[in-house]
Amino acid sequence: MAAGDKPHAVCVPFPAQGHVTPMMKLAKVLYCKGFHVTFVNTEYNHRRLIRSRGPQAVAGLPGFRFATIPDGLPHSDADATQDPAALCDSTMKTCLPHLKSLLDRLNNDGDGGVPPVTCVVADNIMSFGVDAAKEIGVPCLLFWTASACGYMGYRHFQFLMDEGLAPLKDEEQLTNGFMDTPVVWAPGMSKHMRLKDFPTFLRTTDPNDVLMTFQLQEVERSEYASAVVINTFDELEQPALDAMRAIIPAVYTIGPLASVTEQVVVRRGPLDAVSCSLWREDQSCLAWLDARKPRPRSVVYVNFGSVTVMSGQELAEFAWGLARSGYDFLWVVRPDVVKGDTASAAALPPGFLEATEGRGLLASWCDQEAVLRHEAVGLFLTHSGWNSTLESLGAGVPMLCWPFFAEQQTNCRYKCVEWGVAMEVGDDVRREAVQARIRDAMRGDKGKEMARRAAEWREAAAGSAARSLANLDRLINDVLLSPAR
Ligand code: UDP
Repeated sequence: MAAGDKPHAVCVPFPAQGHVTPMMKLAKVLYCKGFHVTFVNTEYNHRRLIRSRGPQAVAGLPGFRFATIPDGLPHSDADATQDPAALCDSTMKTCLPHLKSLLDRLNNDGDGGVPPVTCVVADNIMSFGVDAAKEIGVPCLLFWTASACGYMGYRHFQFLMDEGLAPLKDEEQLTNGFMDTPVVWAPGMSKHMRLKDFPTFLRTTDPNDVLMTFQLQEVERSEYASAVVINTFDELEQPALDAMRAIIPAVYTIGPLASVTEQVVVRRGPLDAVSCSLWREDQSCLAWLDARKPRPRSVVYVNFGSVTVMSGQELAEFAWGLARSGYDFLWVVRPDVVKGDTASAAALPPGFLEATEGRGLLASWCDQEAVLRHEAVGLFLTHSGWNSTLESLGAGVPMLCWPFFAEQQTNCRYKCVEWGVAMEVGDDVRREAVQARIRDAMRGDKGKEMARRAAEWREAAAGSAARSLANLDRLINDVLLSPAR
């Protein structure tokens, strides 16, 4: 097929790891299905990728190219997580004109190497992609990279406001039991929801809070997309998906994307070099796990994702809880995980390394999907980000949850109550609780039941890949290769 005949998808992820990773997976699938792909990173993330992985990470391939737009925040060369509220606010206010001029440049490519843009695939929280696509008359697909239950959690913000439950009247409501208010009437959601299980952005006293109003606006704007695509599978989230489909007619489930890409994307090909991991992976993790292969499911894997931050005291509580549990552990301590500290590993409590010598490995970033699939891993202590949740379910690994923010609290509730694969550490993290939960989860009756359910979900996830692939084909034919709707 000549370049000019190819469909051309411009993929615009929200510039945070948990959004860039699934968008990259989807972009690779589209490329393998015959699309020319332009993958749009922010200038900040583009520089980070070059620093962490070298220029080849963003060199692209014929037919898979990288482009950049500014995120609107002040220039920085730090390898640190950007503030989510500032990033949401600035991308929303800054990016649209830059995306429009990028589309214009791509459509006026003089040398003919780049086919005309035929669709925009934007993160659902970069919904200005709809406006950019409309201007050039092509369809816009919005990609919701989180859970369907999380989506519905945000969609219910307006009801919670109408009911007087949000925003909060005062700060005391955070601690006086008010957050335990049952919310059993939210359509499409678990009957076990409490106010505190909804996305955290409603925990504000400010009716104009940036994150609360931003998320509310972005989920409502998904109605203007040609279709919405979501990284989940029907069996896992049927009621929430039904509720989404009652609001947005075209919702396509394409998860778990990890399983889908396994089937479509050619492994060990040149696409492998194309990566959007903002940190360099520590290669020693898998070898360390290999040495524990004779003891399957014996290791506790700890990772709080790319955005979570905690106090030095919380880090110390986790450290001593792990130490006292007696289990081997692989702990990924991101360099900026401790608030206000540039070298978090240095904040580990004195004596911890000596106390756990020979049974723990600390790393700063790892290939998480490979770690979770490793037979030595028996438990995942996680912040409950959606990618981590799906990766763990896909690998059949039960979880201990310490949700940080956004819809992680909702995911946590579903994992513990609806899907039966997890238990909570508790907001106020204590070493005794960490120790006790790890032991329960690794050896107790509850842990055995969690492991059984996790194994069932692993099978369900694998079985869903074929249906998600069929959904992707329908999406391509009915939406991406159709005139704009
Ligand atoms: N991740 C990784 N290595 C790490 C930590 C995280 O590859 O050491 C990946 C993880 O596999 C997941 C993403 O980063 O795909 C994190 O997304 P998630 O939604 O779980 O959480 P977030 O980082 O957005 O809070």
